[in-house]
Amino acid sequence: MSDTFFRPVSGFDLPRFAGIPTFMRLPHIGFDHPRFSEVDIGLVGVPWDAGTTNRPGPRHGPRQLRDMSTMIRAQNGATGIRPFELVNCADLGDVGPNPANLEDSLARITAFYGRLVEAGIRPLSAGGDHLCSLPILRALAKDRPLGMIHFDSHTDLFNSYFGGMKFTHGTPFRRAIEEGLLDPKRVVQIGIRGTAYDSEDREFAAGVGVRVIPIEEFFDRGVDDVMAEARAIVGAAATYVSYDIDFVDPAFAPGTGTPEVGGPTSFQALQVARLLDGVSIAGADLVEVSPPFDQSGGTAFLGVSILFELLCNMARNVRASGS
Ligand code: MN
Ligand code: MN
Repeated sequence: MSDTFFRPVSGFDLPRFAGIPTFMRLPHIGFDHPRFSEVDIGLVGVPWDAGTTNRPGPRHGPRQLRDMSTMIRAQNGATGIRPFELVNCADLGDVGPNPANLEDSLARITAFYGRLVEAGIRPLSAGGDHLCSLPILRALAKDRPLGMIHFDSHTDLFNSYFGGMKFTHGTPFRRAIEEGLLDPKRVVQIGIRGTAYDSEDREFAAGVGVRVIPIEEFFDRGVDDVMAEARAIVGAAATYVSYDIDFVDPAFAPGTGTPEVGGPTSFQALQVARLLDGVSIAGADLVEVSPPFDQSGGTAFLGVSILFELLCNMARNVRASGS
C-alpha cells in the first residue's frame, strides 16, 4: 500500500463545477499507467444495457454518474471516514462493450475485471444494467464462490425471458448461482417488491437457500435489524455487494427503467450501505441508473452518494486487512 495516495482534486484548488469529470474527481489510471499496480480500489464504468427488457438507458449511466460525482467531498458526513486517505482509489475508466453483440460484451467485461483481479484491485462499478454484475462475478469469483448482499426491488433470479433468452437484467444471479459464482446460502436479497409475472424466481430462491427479505419485512423490522441479519448471512468470507438503484422508492430515484413504488427513502438507501461495516467486500456495484429517465439528475446524485458509502466501507475494510 502506498504512502502517497491518489487524491481527488480539491474544490479549493479547482471549483467542483470545473475540470474533466472523473469518478469523485480522482485521477484516471488506465492499465498502462505507471502507477496502475498501486491502485487498491478501482472505480469502473460499465456503459452497457443490452440486458434491459423494458425501458433502456443505463448505458448512459457512467458518464452521468461521473458528472454528478463531482458533488462528492472527501469526508463522510455521518461516519467521518476519509476513504481517499485510507487506500489508493482511482478512476480506471470504462469497460468498452460491443453494443452489437451481447456475448462479446459479456466476455469483454470479464476480461477487463480479470486484469483487476490479477492486480489485486477491488472494483467498485457503476452500471450499466444489472446484467453487468454477471460478467464481473465471472472474474471475481473465478476461484471460489462469493456471498452477496443484494439491494433491489427484484430478485433477478428468473430463468429466461421472451422465449429462452438466458442473459437479461432479470437473470444474472440465476446464472451466477448455476455457474458456482455465488454460494446461495450466503446470498441475501433486500427490498423485493412489485407486481410479478409469477413466483418462479422466489421458488428458485427457496430451493437453493437464498434469503429473500421483501420490503414489507424490511419496514416491519427496521434497517438495523435487517442489516444485522444480512451481515450474519454473509459472515466473514468474501462478499459481493450489488446495489440496484430501483431498490429506492421512485419518489427519490425515478431515473431507472423498472421502478417499483413503496420503497425506501434516500436516507434509508444510504443507511443500508453504511451498515455494511465489517463485511469483507470483494467488489461492489451500483446499477440501473438511466439518465434518459433522470431529468433532474437526482437519481444519479443518489447513485454516487451510495457509491461513496460503499467506497468508505471498502476502504476501511481494505485498510484493516492490510491487503
Ligand atoms: Mn436488478
Ligand atoms: Mn431492479
